[in-house]
Amino acid sequence: MTHFNTRAIHAGQTPDQTTGAVIPPLHLSSTFVQDGVGGLRNGYEYGRSANPTRDNLQENLAALEAGNLPAAKRTAARAFAFASGLAAEDTLLRAALKPGDHILLGNDAYGGTYRLINGVFGSWGVGHTTVNLSDIAATRAALAATKAKIVWLETPSNPTLQIVDIATLAAIAHEYNALLVVDNTFATPALQRPLEFGADVVVHSTTKYIGGHSDVVGGAIVTAHADLAEKIAFLHNAVGAIAAPFDSYLAIRGIKTLGIRMAEHSKNAQVIAEALVEHPAVERVYYPGLTSHPGHEIAAEQMSGFGGMISVQLTGGAVAARDFVSATRIFTLAESLGGVESLISYPHAMTHASVVGTPLAVPDNLVRLSVGIEDVNDLLADLNAALTRGRTGWLTKTGPVSTIAE
Ligand SMILES: *Cc1c(COP(=O)(O)O)cnc(C)c1O
Repeated sequence: MTHFNTRAIHAGQTPDQTTGAVIPPLHLSSTFVQDGVGGLRNGYEYGRSANPTRDNLQENLAALEAGNLPAAKRTAARAFAFASGLAAEDTLLRAALKPGDHILLGNDAYGGTYRLINGVFGSWGVGHTTVNLSDIAATRAALAATKAKIVWLETPSNPTLQIVDIATLAAIAHEYNALLVVDNTFATPALQRPLEFGADVVVHSTTKYIGGHSDVVGGAIVTAHADLAEKIAFLHNAVGAIAAPFDSYLAIRGIKTLGIRMAEHSKNAQVIAEALVEHPAVERVYYPGLTSHPGHEIAAEQMSGFGGMISVQLTGGAVAARDFVSATRIFTLAESLGGVESLISYPHAMTHASVVGTPLAVPDNLVRLSVGIEDVNDLLADLNAALTRGRTGWLTKTGPVSTIAE
């Protein structure tokens, strides 16, 4: 097997047979000619069922997440590309569960995942329990009490960057006959490959680092369990929440630089996290690359870099947090994450507004940074200036200033 960065560029990217085009063409056709009834060419029939560009992406994603597994598992691994991360999660849950089943969910899961499980699956008879998955005793107790069929883990989590030992959690889940699903959106396979640590399924919002340029919404599932993959394949077509050809093409384009982007995101974020720790306006910094982070050692074992996401809590409370996110100029106030450009957000009222008042609620003085790959000196200067303005509070009184010059 070749190495990760080589697979990122070449897996599922064989030059076009007919023309020799080095980059496989983008296939927009919704239907495919049949050589006599049922005489399909390479299995292509109708764009919902299969599309060559989507297949290219799926082959690539399977190679990235499962490429280092033992041969038998590696060849069984399949990836499925969806219209969004939540569409992927929805199809996975339908494939793995039936009414009466239960999900054990980390108490810091992405708000949209919680909304899907609670607000959609709840009314179809699927129960859920939230637990701190880094608390082994609590996790065991919850599994014994609920007989959950799925343990749903995010590591690092969104937005508090909590780290859980994937191998330990996989062993515990399997003891109770549950599947371990890891949402690998924050780390990406460039930094962490959960299937290598015993996880059963990986899910992604490819909207984030995999796409990497904030210009596509998509999702994916990867698993090496043949029976589960068969159920997902059926629903992929039967429900139809598929990734569109152009979206698949953009994701493939993004993946070619995934390795170098993740290295650069990690490098910039480490510098910024260390600077924020020293800042008087900052009460607490969440970044797994800091030795003070409670999950630092586990992260160092199961990840090859600490990623580009940082959260901070501000000493000035909710007002300071809202001021800070409105005062940066390079860090753009927006939802989402994982693009080459830096973004800043206020989860309490943005990405995690749907979990206010639930066990997954986010503190109201917390700000989340998606550190991009701009020059780190410019990023530091931007954050510094914004924190200073936030602390004096003049920004809220006078409105944002219009010029970039200080
Ligand atoms: C964004 C996100 C999702 C949902 O993905 P969409 O593409 O927005 O549907 C799921 N998990 C995590 C960790 C995310 O950040």
